[in-house]
This record gives sequence, C-alpha cells and structure tokens, in this order.
Amino acid sequence: MYDILIIGAGPAGMTAAIYGQRGGKKTIVFDKLSYGGQVINTAEVANYPGIPNMTGLDFADKTYNQMKDLGAEMSYEEIFEIRDADKPIKTVITTSGKEYQCKAIIIATGSSPRPLGVENEDRFRGAGISYCATCDGAFFRDKTVAVCGGGNTALEDAEVLSDIAEKVYLVHRRDEFRADATNVKRVKSKKNVELVLDSVVTAIKGERFIQGIEVENKKTGEKRELKIDGLFVAIGQMPENDIFKDVVKLNKAGYVEASEDCLTGTDGIFAAGDCRAKKVRQITTAVSDGAIAALAAIEHINKTEY
Ligand code: NAP
Repeated sequence: MYDILIIGAGPAGMTAAIYGQRGGKKTIVFDKLSYGGQVINTAEVANYPGIPNMTGLDFADKTYNQMKDLGAEMSYEEIFEIRDADKPIKTVITTSGKEYQCKAIIIATGSSPRPLGVENEDRFRGAGISYCATCDGAFFRDKTVAVCGGGNTALEDAEVLSDIAEKVYLVHRRDEFRADATNVKRVKSKKNVELVLDSVVTAIKGERFIQGIEVENKKTGEKRELKIDGLFVAIGQMPENDIFKDVVKLNKAGYVEASEDCLTGTDGIFAAGDCRAKKVRQITTAVSDGAIAALAAIEHINKTEY
C-alpha cells in the first residue's frame, strides 16, 4: 500500500515524489523505460531559474537522485489501468498484471512527439527520421538534414544540428516562429541553416533510408525537393492519456482537464505537468505542478478516513 502513486517520471512526477516524501507520505513513481521525460532530449536547459547552464540529462539525474535520497521508490513498469478510481483506496494495474494499491494518484505522463502524418513516415523512423536531435544528431555528421517545426524544440534542434551537419534546412509552415526570440536569433546567425518558410512537408522519399523530402510553399503552391540524409520532426507534442479516459475528464486534444490546482474532478486523482490542459509547457511549469499536485494529494490523504 502506497500513499501516493505517481504515473510518469518527468520533471512533474519526480517533483511530486520529492514533495510527497518530504510530506511524510510513502511514494512510488512509475515510468515505462527511464526517468527524466522529455527533458533528457534537451541539450541545454538555459531558462531554469538559479541554474543557468545544465544539460537536460543532468537536470533529470539530479532530480532523480534527490527523490531517491528522500526515499521515493521508482518502478519501471507500464501502467495499464486504474481501478476503484472513485474509492478511497485505488488500485493501479501494470501491463504485466501486477497490482498496486494507493490512497492518491498523480497522473504526470507528459506528452510525446507529434508525428507529421505524411506517407512513409513510419517506414523511415530510425532510417533517417528522428524525433530527437540530441539523441540522434551525431549520426548526421557532415550530412544534410532538415528540421520541421517552428517552436523552441525545432529551433534548438536546428542550432544543435548546425554544429554537426554540413547543411540544415528548417522547414516551418508559417513565416513567423513560435520559438523564443533568442533561439530564433541564434539559428538565423548560423550560415549553414536555410529557412524554408510558409512550407510543409508533402512527401518523404527514399529506398532503405530517407533520401529527400518534397516541401510545398503554402502561399505560392510551389513544390521543391530537398535532398536530405535525415529529417528531424519537431512539430509539438501529443498527450498519452487514453488509459485514463474513464477515470478523469480529457479535453478534445486528449489532455487531462485539471486547472492550476491540479485537481481532476475525481477525488484523490491529480494531474501534473504537460499531460494536463494548459497553455505553457515548460520545465518550470511542470515542477510547479508537481509540487501543487503532491501537496493536494497530501491534504486529500490527511482528511480522508481509511
Ligand atoms: P510547440 O511550441 O507546440 O511548437 C510546435 C511547432 O510545430 C509550431 O511552430 C507549429 O506551427 C508546428 N506544427 C504543429 N503542427 C504541425 C504540423 N502538423 N505540420 C507542420 N508544423 C506543425 O512545440 P515544441 O517546440 O515541441 O515545444 C513544446 C513546449 O516545450 C513549448 O511550450 C516550448 O516552449 C517548450 N520548450 C521550451 C524549450 C526552452 O524553453 N528551452 C525548449 C523546448 C521546448 P505554428 O507555430 O504555425 O503553430
């Protein structure tokens, strides 16, 4: 029996575990494969207050060690189902059929990269198409690559790749970037980055490995073929909350409906970080949610009769 069971070991989930343990509650965190969440794919975290320069991996390691030192448990299992969601004692079942009981659940499943949805995308996954420049960029030394997207991830990917690859195309569907001005300025100063604006990827070509993409200018209708060795897709994130759809309310896009207080509407179940409906998805907002959700879970446990 655990007091707080956390699903997802990203910044939100691990912060919730730190607060849970410090609040005297027996806490366990679940994740499929590793801890850290999306942040481990970030080469440099430059906007976390008080720690101006650190890698995403460093951030994940330090947060993980902090929660472990406080006594939180970590289990690498995938969650399949939540049972008795409306009861004081809830049961969480893993895909291998193991059952865990707890008094409060914090959903902190984050999100995963959104696919382009263009034909052949699945075929070339791992054969030239990547969703993580920090992880796979090194395979493209002195090659030509394209990054698709206009947010902070795409701009940071383009910058990282410009130091590895010979040439980087940055394909974005508008002529303005959603990314921070600093990131845009840095990418624009790179001589080997070519901006392909107002454009979308309409076809992916190759034999065993990707060899090129077709891009279409949405304003002019003009089509152009770019010969590339790698395509980095960075067009945002999607939630992975399907297994919770009968337990908490999800919005149309699949995010958990929970406001800034992280309450889901189901007693004893909370949502923290990128998995919940919100406007700003940053490490800072995820860790903030983690703290809020854990404190709410502690309050819930303390006032519930078991
Ligand atoms: P994002 O900010 O949602 O940006 C997604 C980008 O992909 C947008 O430019 C969007 O275009 C484009 N896009 C979406 N769907 C598309 C489609 N079907 N085809 C082509 N383009 C498409 O996603 P993100 O860059 O992954 O960032 C996610 C969150 O993490 C953001 O809040 C971001 O600020 C944060 N983040 C922060 C940092 C940092 O602060 N250092 C680093 C990485 C990520 P439009 O602009 O036209 O909508």
